[in-house]
Amino acid sequence: MNQKRKLIAGNWKMNGSLDANAALLQALREGVGTPACAVAVAVPAPYLAQVQSLADGSPIALAAQDVSQHDSGAFTGEVSAGMLRDFGARYVLVGHSERRQYHGETDAVVAAKAQKALAAGITPIVCVGETLQEREDGQTESVVKRQLAAVIHAVGHCVSELVVAYEPVWAIGTGRTATPEQAQQVHAVLRAQLAAATERADKVPLLYGGSMNAANAAQLLAQPDIDGGLVGGASLKAQDFLQIIAAAQSA
Ligand code: PEP
Repeated sequence: MNQKRKLIAGNWKMNGSLDANAALLQALREGVGTPACAVAVAVPAPYLAQVQSLADGSPIALAAQDVSQHDSGAFTGEVSAGMLRDFGARYVLVGHSERRQYHGETDAVVAAKAQKALAAGITPIVCVGETLQEREDGQTESVVKRQLAAVIHAVGHCVSELVVAYEPVWAIGTGRTATPEQAQQVHAVLRAQLAAATERADKVPLLYGGSMNAANAAQLLAQPDIDGGLVGGASLKAQDFLQIIAAAQSA
């Protein structure tokens, strides 16, 4: 059993509406009680203000899905860390594979985003993960280590303030989950890499993401180096998300 307080973060991706968000938050607030784990929802930027208000006074923390690598200026469409802070964001995803894949985010860009978040007092949830091809080529370890190394190098002594999410790209939104053993194996690699950079590596939450659901969460969360989950599809259904939170509390 892994006794650390776990973190369950939902990633709504580009889903939601004012009405749907209100219904989801209401159901989550009613169901979540006083959880023994930390809970967050990463919402689309236009809904930060709405969800900040809906979650006010609840244990549900607000997260953003992306942040600019710049502070301000002529970067049309970008949202800065300071803006996220204005709306009470506690976390921000950086380097989600969909950002890396569809928006060409490099390791250096992801590292710069993590730095900006930390400088604004927001915890970056740094996403790393290999594609199916990379796994089949035996490159899983080298890919995730390269991705995390860029961030470790950039944030220096703030390494222990990160959250890291291992999200195998082949498991995201596919219904295909890494086995608990596959996930634990990579988490152990990431933990060792963090331990080489900080004495507080055990304090860095390592989340697993990739088709986590109510049925598979307990087994994944029981692994010694899995400290929580980053949940996409299942975070849009209140009952599924609440069941994953319940699994985290008894893991
Ligand atoms: C994600 O978007 O981070 C994710 C893990 O998605 P899903 O749970 O839908 O695979």
